[in-house]
Amino acid sequence: MNTLALEKKTMPRHKTCAGGIPAKVVDLLDFDFSAAIEQEINGAVISYRQIKSVEMPREENLGYVVNRAVFDHLLALRAGRAGAAINEGETVRTISKHDHLIEVKTNRSTYRCRALIGADGAQGITTRILGCSAPPASIGLEVYVPCEHALIRNHVHKLGFYFGYLPDGYGWIFPRRQDASIGIGIPMKYARRARSLLVDFLEALGLPRDPALHAKGHALPLFSPLTRRPFCRGNILLAGDAASFVDPVTGEGIYWALKSGEEAARAISATLATGKHAAGVYTAALGRHILPELRAAWKVSLPLNAFPQASFNFFQSNERIRKMHFQVMAGHLSYIDLLAQVPRMPLIIMKSLLSRLFRRKTSL
Ligand SMILES: Cc1cc2nc3c(=O)[nH]c(=O)nc-3n(C[C@H](O)[C@H](O)[C@H](O)COP(=O)(O)OP(=O)(O)OC[C@H]3O[C@@H](n4cnc5c(N)ncnc54)[C@H](O)[C@@H]3O)c2cc1C
Repeated sequence: MNTLALEKKTMPRHKTCAGGIPAKVVDLLDFDFSAAIEQEINGAVISYRQIKSVEMPREENLGYVVNRAVFDHLLALRAGRAGAAINEGETVRTISKHDHLIEVKTNRSTYRCRALIGADGAQGITTRILGCSAPPASIGLEVYVPCEHALIRNHVHKLGFYFGYLPDGYGWIFPRRQDASIGIGIPMKYARRARSLLVDFLEALGLPRDPALHAKGHALPLFSPLTRRPFCRGNILLAGDAASFVDPVTGEGIYWALKSGEEAARAISATLATGKHAAGVYTAALGRHILPELRAAWKVSLPLNAFPQASFNFFQSNERIRKMHFQVMAGHLSYIDLLAQVPRMPLIIMKSLLSRLFRRKTSL
């Protein structure tokens, strides 16, 4: 099979991303990516308005924070060693069908291929080709703040998730070698206010506001089963952000981009010689390995997004749920396991919220 990868930028290229990857990503990689590692992660803290916080018990190697420019370059080099031709600085302009082939026109050339994986991100052309016009659900904005600040030094080897500072969504501090990625993930409806919300977040943490001037933003297509979208058609298969395979609880998409890319490649190599379309095999693989977990994550995200404070209180007071959630973050449990063990979790959070509201009303 001859494989051509088209990338509009020149590698290594910047990608706006905090670079947090769970340890399970290692299972998908068969090469040494240590050059991309900014920090190994062995803990996490979840805070609500710096008033309350819960700390995950320290554990060896929960995952890593990677430098995306280096990490993605290593991936491209690995693909090259496996035999793919990588054309950098080449932008795909149009995609159309010609008989049984797919025609791809770029700024440099025209290619015809039998199968195409659309891995061109949240706002790429392939999503539109398959007829999805829904805008990405959220946007992420990040800055790098140097380690000289005490708060950032407190996050060495430890991820920080911050709730209650934004009208919706959450903020993060992910440690790196010389600095930290600090950012916010918010629903797209706040996109115009994103920079000022980031300034507010930095100030609330006691950090300088100036870095927000250099903040970079990018769409964050959180997965939702309510957005009816095709993931493939014929021999065109979408992977990663192009298919909105982003964990709606944490905003993690790197693992899902790698996993779906691998499944898409498998589906194509399994069907190309048979003359059958790869979409059938890919749909089955998504149904086995990807969609059930993302659907479960979406269910878990509903109360967290609708009632962040009540969810946090519930999380803080319920040790069993807290431990299980940390197990999910560590990759020892899946969201499916979490929901199977606590199928009424969204309902329990709703009840805890209603009883709190009721108590407040009766005490007035
Ligand atoms: C602020 C922020 C923080 C994040 N933090 C994390 C995190 O800590 N952990 C995590 O797991 N996820 C995180 N994510 C999500 C993660 O970045 C994405 O889910 C992931 O990058 C998806 O990979 P992808 O390959 O599908 O798309 P991308 O990484 O977007 O790659 C798409 C590639 O396609 C190229 N391209 C686009 N259009 C064309 C074209 N027409 N022709 C040729 N090439 C094209 C682009 O140049 C790009 O290189 C974050 C996202 C944001 C915005």
